[in-house]
Amino acid sequence: MTSWRTAWRNLTRQITCPACGTKQQPAKSCANEKCGVAIEELKSPLSGLRFHDLRHHAITELAESQASDSTIMAIAGHVSTKMLQQLGGVTVVGPLLTGLDKPVQIASMSATATDIVNLAVIAAYDINR
Ligand SMILES: [Zn+2]
Repeated sequence: MTSWRTAWRNLTRQITCPACGTKQQPAKSCANEKCGVAIEELKSPLSGLRFHDLRHHAITELAESQASDSTIMAIAGHVSTKMLQQLGGVTVVGPLLTGLDKPVQIASMSATATDIVNLAVIAAYDINR
């Protein structure tokens, strides 16, 4: 049995001989004895794809499908919305307090200028409601 890393490496490096269609790992010539075509210039279309890239993609897909932050964080195992934002390539705004008589926005100590502008926009929207 091979490790998942070995299996991943084999999967992402696998090439298909253009002459005979044999799937194989990179080599100087085709592994099919009857073919033997030079394949050293071939590169897998998945070359360079990291397992972690799939995680980013899955999180982005979840975010784009309107899954809630808490659902995404539960599935991805993220502990913060900041980490979700970095890995998911999405804009996360909040946390937001709702149900109060007046609009309240809380900027964390690590808030960026963009975070503060987003909160200001939401505050302006709330004032007009
Ligand atoms: Zn071949």
